Amino acid sequence: MSAERPVQTLSYELRLPEAVQAAALRLLDCSRAVINATVAALWERLDDFGERESKYAYKQVTAMIGSPAFHGDRQWRCEAEQAGRILRGQAVRKKQFALILPLLEQGMIRPPTEKKQAGKNRPAIKAALVSLLEEDSDGGAAVELQSLIEQACNFYLTHGCFPDTYEEMQAVPVLKVGILPYAGDDGGLKGQAYRLRLDVEGGCCYVALRAPDEVGSWPASWTEPQLRLPLPPPLVERLQGGEDLAPTLREVVRPGETRYAVLDFTVQVPVAPLADPKQVRRVLGWDWGVRTLVTALVVDLDGNRLSPPLFLDTGSFDGRQAHTRRHIDRLKRKVAKLEARRDQFAVGDQRRAPSERKLVILRREIARCWRKYEARNNDLAHLAANILLVLASVWQADLISGESLKSLKSAGRGRGAKGRWVNWRNNSQIRGALWRTLRYKCHLSGLHLAWQHSKGTTHTCPRCGKPAHTYASPALDAPVRDAGPWLRCFACGWNGARDYAAAINIALLGVTFLTQSLAPAQADPSPHPTMTEKGLNSESYSGSGLALRLPPTSPRGRLLHAGKLFVNGWINSVMLHSALSQDTMLRLCG
Ligand SMILES: [Zn+2]
Repeated sequence: MSAERPVQTLSYELRLPEAVQAAALRLLDCSRAVINATVAALWERLDDFGERESKYAYKQVTAMIGSPAFHGDRQWRCEAEQAGRILRGQAVRKKQFALILPLLEQGMIRPPTEKKQAGKNRPAIKAALVSLLEEDSDGGAAVELQSLIEQACNFYLTHGCFPDTYEEMQAVPVLKVGILPYAGDDGGLKGQAYRLRLDVEGGCCYVALRAPDEVGSWPASWTEPQLRLPLPPPLVERLQGGEDLAPTLREVVRPGETRYAVLDFTVQVPVAPLADPKQVRRVLGWDWGVRTLVTALVVDLDGNRLSPPLFLDTGSFDGRQAHTRRHIDRLKRKVAKLEARRDQFAVGDQRRAPSERKLVILRREIARCWRKYEARNNDLAHLAANILLVLASVWQADLISGESLKSLKSAGRGRGAKGRWVNWRNNSQIRGALWRTLRYKCHLSGLHLAWQHSKGTTHTCPRCGKPAHTYASPALDAPVRDAGPWLRCFACGWNGARDYAAAINIALLGVTFLTQSLAPAQADPSPHPTMTEKGLNSESYSGSGLALRLPPTSPRGRLLHAGKLFVNGWINSVMLHSALSQDTMLRLCG
């Protein structure tokens, strides 16, 4: 075990004041040109970036070449850092490409028919992904691998064959939006490309950036940081117990809006020590639902259910997202019509102007809708992660057990194949965000988080462990449905919501995971048990756990570490159904 105190890095975006926007944007434009030239010059040595000796990417780059446009040593280091990060990222993708290359086969392309052009075979892509995701991962790489496979399929559709090498399908990457990490400089007090002085008590900091002037000359001398930036209260709170790291200057570009520069302020905070596994007495299990986003409950180490099931229902959320998607589709149809009207006239003809003007407005509206759509997904993921943490804290469960992302289980909503695919992508986005959020929040608050194999969890009786069918409804004569909402066990008579059954099974897998990893002699190197190895059932629903200790008596101030419940403006309320109080809904108001 390392004696180092575990830490977590958090980032906060601060918009720079108007007075320095122009200078900051000039600096970013200038750096971007250098970064792009550097990446292009080193592209043929991409494989070298698959190996790393230092965490600093700039060291690797500056050892290979000098600056294509030199504006000071530390400025070059910062530019080289960003170029090196791009190349390192591409080297990782190239290695992943080597993995998918043998899987690329013509089955991934749907042959053309009379009605439809050739296209991607989504099920084949999905199956290839599932087989590819490593056994010992939580499936977080799924999204990246999917983008690689899709890129390869697009190549096929254009060229009629799959690419032989990564570089064949991937053009030299070009940074389109400015970014300048100050990690290559000497720190806030001695920096030669930036200076930063913190006044945590005063809730602000003072910044100076070295930037070219209007005619492109760089200053030779330094002034002390004068520019005052107020810090948001959560950041001040973090800074009191943490350490600030080198910030990153970044450009924000949105269609139809004036671009602006922000400073990403990075803080390293100490995290709560991880709970001793031997002291863990309760496990919170949760599952992605068929009709709810998340279903959760708490069990003890004997498998007794302590808490009532909790369902996070996102019905109205799905409706809003679908509404936004339909609106985007309508706007896109308008754009297509206007483009056709405009193209009736030759370039330069002033009769194109009215359509051009309307197109600008429409494109801005489309971009705004997409932003709203993605922000909602992110907010929902944060909200769900926070709810799980609050529950774990209230019930004093030190291990959170969740289904692996690998199964890529479709939510079963949507009718057409296309709709399902869109839904699956949307859900996988939310799920990826939820895992990431949950992972860092668990890390911050010292909770264990373990992924579980999902196979069999939705079709196994949680009480007797025998295989069970799911049905269209709770009625006794309801037909069997594979994605049915109700599970009924004819061996022991247990019946209940299928999502609830799955969440219990995943909690039980979590208990088995815990006891197996504590066993002194581990025969199986992989502690993640499957349903057949579980050997533990949930005999009873015990009322004893229901004496909720509110407010939570968390020994490690977990809620504080995990951050406050964060609900953005758009979520007015979210439905939390509990089987204990059927009609009561807990409303969390933003
Ligand atoms: Zn049973």
